[in-house]
Amino acid sequence: MDISIVVPLYNEEESLPELYAWIERVMKANGFVYEVIFVNDGSTDRSWQVIEQLQEQHPDVVKGIKFRRNYGKSPALYCGFKQAQGDVVITMDADLQDNPDEIPGLYRMITQENYDLVSGWKKKRYDPLSKTIPTKLFNATARRVSGIRNLHDFNCGLKAYRKEVVKNIEVYGEMHRYIPYLAKNAGFTRIGEKVVHHQARKYGKTKFGLDRFVNGYLDLISLWFLSVFGVKPMHFFGLLGSLMFLLGFISVIIVGANKLYNMNHGMPYRLVTESPYFYLALTLMVIGTQLFVAGFLGELISRNAPERNNYQIEKII
Ligand code: UDP
Ligand code: MG
Repeated sequence: MDISIVVPLYNEEESLPELYAWIERVMKANGFVYEVIFVNDGSTDRSWQVIEQLQEQHPDVVKGIKFRRNYGKSPALYCGFKQAQGDVVITMDADLQDNPDEIPGLYRMITQENYDLVSGWKKKRYDPLSKTIPTKLFNATARRVSGIRNLHDFNCGLKAYRKEVVKNIEVYGEMHRYIPYLAKNAGFTRIGEKVVHHQARKYGKTKFGLDRFVNGYLDLISLWFLSVFGVKPMHFFGLLGSLMFLLGFISVIIVGANKLYNMNHGMPYRLVTESPYFYLALTLMVIGTQLFVAGFLGELISRNAPERNNYQIEKII
């Protein structure tokens, strides 16, 4: 099979028939062998009935996965990826904002130009300003943190993957925003970009509010931490803890030595416990010790993590 198209959806009943018809038109025109996997993320409208109907009409092309409740876009993608059988896997939103006409171009970039992952770039967007401006900021940060300098649009719903990529990354929580970063951490470094046409949402309304940006930043920090210190938490907490403890320890000695010196030279002196520096130094030492202990706990946890020895082996001969 050439292509699997994975479509996560939540309450998109009006868009689905149109989307399917459009995909079919493009696929037939290019002679692809393909499947479309609709992942119904707990829709409360008639989306699932529409999918059932499409499935009846096109039994060898349409697949449907129905969640019992709404889990989010990342879990939907995760389950779609598990089912996908095509050599190239395409993801697209169900709301007709992503254009199926782009699929052949994306497919070629994977198969002929040898990319592992190609992300769409909505260069000209048809979204409200309240979304496009924070998005620019978000992408600039993601570029810096992930080190994937050539991507302008991390969170574009329209992406193409080599099959190995989707089978070897685990999208969870709300990490769908950072799939290129996940892929890079898994060792798939040929990441490309293609300018894609974008449409305004035709039916329904967006499923994400402005909290996406707050959560997006927090997720990015977690991902960065996991990729840098995930398997060696002690290197992070231990260093920080040792530095703080050392700083506190030296300060205590200075405070004590100062008192002894003044005492022995007949100068006025005050008790160690009367100096504010003593308490600051004490606090430093306590926090330093706690950080150090956090590092040990982190080590204990990562020692038991089932994926501690989960490596990406490309080939063995
Ligand atoms: N979506 C989903 N589960 C959710 C929220 C969204 O499967 O909990 C789907 C949604 O139906 C759409 C895609 O994810 O197909 C992108 O969502 P949306 O168009 O609302 O996001 P935006 O275009 O505003 O970024
Ligand atoms: Mg949308």
